Amino acid sequence: MNIIFIAPPSAGKGTQSALLEKKHGYVHISTGDLLRAEIKKKSEIGIKLEDIISRGELVSDEIITELLRNQLKKIANKKFILDGYPRTKEQAETLSKIFEELCIDDYQVLYLDLDEETALKRALGRIICSECGATYNQYIEGLMPKEKGICDNCHGTLISRPDDTEKAMKQRYESYIKFTKPVLDYYKKDKTLNIIDASRDSQTIYEEIKQIIGCE
Ligand code: AMP
Repeated sequence: MNIIFIAPPSAGKGTQSALLEKKHGYVHISTGDLLRAEIKKKSEIGIKLEDIISRGELVSDEIITELLRNQLKKIANKKFILDGYPRTKEQAETLSKIFEELCIDDYQVLYLDLDEETALKRALGRIICSECGATYNQYIEGLMPKEKGICDNCHGTLISRPDDTEKAMKQRYESYIKFTKPVLDYYKKDKTLNIIDASRDSQTIYEEIKQIIGCE
C-alpha cells in the first residue's frame, strides 16, 4: 500500500515517514528534500529555489513535477510515501495521470490535521540534519537528538531550516489553506482519504497510520 501525506507544515510528515521507512521498508519521497538537495548543489536553479523556499512560497509545477516523476520511475515497484506532493489541485490531477502512466493504483491518502498555532510552535523547535535530512525537535520529548546538535543516524550537524521562521511559516500556512486544503476534496471523491489528528504525540499517530495501511 503506497501512502500520500497531505498536511500543513510541521504536522509530522517527515517524522512519520522516517518511522515507516525504517520499520516497514517504505521509500520516502519528499519533494522538499528533493528541492533542498538541488539547493545544496549551488546550481543556478538551486539559487532561485533557495530564494522561493526561504520566502515560504511554492515552487513552479514544471520543476517539482519533473523531479517527482523521475524519482517515481527510479524506485520502480517499491512501495513509497509521497510527502509534500500534491500541494495543489492541479498537482493532484497531474499525479493521477502519472499514476496511470506508471500503473500505480494501490494507495491511501493520509491527512494530518494540525492547527496553525501548534504548527508554528513545532516549526520553531525543528532542527534537521545538514547531511541526511533527518528531522528532530529541540523542545519535544521523544523527538530530541541523543546528543545536542548532532544527528543520531549519521553524526551530521543539526541546523534550523531557513523557512522555519515565524514570517515564512505564516506564508506557508496561508499557502496550505489556499492551495493544499482544496486537494482534500479531490481525494474525498475517490474515498482514499483518511483524517488523522496530528496534534497528538508521534507514537500514537504512528499506531493509527499502521492500522489504516494494515501494517503490524
Ligand atoms: P516541505 O519540506 O514539504 O515543507 O517543503 C519545503 C518547501 O519546498 C515548500 O515550502 C515549498 O516552497 C517547496 N515545495 C515542496 N513541495 C512542493 C510542491 N509539491 N509544490 C511546490 N513547492 C513545493
